[in-house]
Amino acid sequence: KGIDLTGQTAIVTGASTGIGEAAAIELARAGADIVVNHRDSEDDARDTVGKVEALGRRAVAIQADVSKEEDVIRLFDEAEAALGPADVVFSNAGRQKDAKIGDMTLDDWNAVISVNLTGAFLVGREAIRRFRKKGIRAEISPAMGKLIYNSSVHQVICWAFHANYAASKGGMHMLMQSMAQEVANERIRINSVAPGAIATAINAAERASHEADILRLIPYGRIGEPADVGRVVAWLASDAADYIVGQTIFVDGAMTLYPEFRGNG
Ligand code: NAD
Repeated sequence: KGIDLTGQTAIVTGASTGIGEAAAIELARAGADIVVNHRDSEDDARDTVGKVEALGRRAVAIQADVSKEEDVIRLFDEAEAALGPADVVFSNAGRQKDAKIGDMTLDDWNAVISVNLTGAFLVGREAIRRFRKKGIRAEISPAMGKLIYNSSVHQVICWAFHANYAASKGGMHMLMQSMAQEVANERIRINSVAPGAIATAINAAERASHEADILRLIPYGRIGEPADVGRVVAWLASDAADYIVGQTIFVDGAMTLYPEFRGNG
C-alpha cells in the first residue's frame, strides 16, 4: 500500500508551527484526518487546519498543554469526538530554555522536562490506552496504533548550555524504547524521529547569529526544512514501515556522523 493513511486519524501535538505543522500536512497528504493540537496559538493552529483542509482532509484544532495530565486526557476525548479514535499520534510538542549549568534555575529545568519528557509520557500513555480501546482494524492497518516521538540528535549528542534539553531527549529515547518493548506484542508500533538542525522558530535566533557554525556541523550542507522531517513521520506512520518498532530515524543531514572527525584529507 505504500504511504497510504486513508481512513486514519492522526493527532499531532504542537502542530501550529514548525515540524508539527509540516508533519500534519504530510500525514494529511498521505490521506489522514488531523487533530491539530496547540497550547496557546489559536490563529496558527487554524492556519494549519486550513492547510490540511486544502488537501481534502478533515482537521480540527484543539487547545491542550501536553505537560498537564487533565489537558492530555481532554485532548484525546475531544479528538475522538471530532474525528474518531486516533490511529497515529505524533508527540511533537517541545521547547528549549537554555542556560549555563551554574545559572540554570529549577524553573528552567522543569519548564523543559515537563513538556519534553513528562509531556511525552502523558501523550504516549494516553495514546496506548486509546489504541487498546480502539483495537486493531485490520482493514485499515495491521498495527493497532502508531506512536511517533519527535526526539532530537541531542538524544545522543551531548549539548553544553542545553543540559535540560539534552536530558529530556535522552530520557525520551529510553521512554520510547521501553514502551515499545512493552507493547509491541499488541501490534502497537512506537518509534522516534530525531531531527538535526531544522529551520523553525525554536532555533531562529541561533540560525540568525551562527548559521555558518551550524552548517559546519552538517555534512550534507544545508539546514533542514520542516517537511524533511514531516515526510519521514508520514512514512513511519504508514504500513510501509510496519516492521519498524522501537527505532529512531535520524533526519539530520549526517550531523550524527561527527563531521569534525573527517579532517581535511
Ligand atoms: P516550534 O517552536 O515551531 O514548535 C514547537 C511547538 O510545540 C510549538 O507549536 C509550541 O507551541 C508547542 N508547544 C510547546 N509547549 C507546548 C505544550 N506544553 N503543549 C502543547 N504544545 C506545546 O519548533 P520545532 O522545531 O518545530 O519543534 C518541534 C519539536 O521538534 C520539538 O520537540 C523539538 O525539540 C524538536 N526538534 C527540533 C529541532 C530543530 O532544529 N528545529 C531539532 C531537533 C528536535
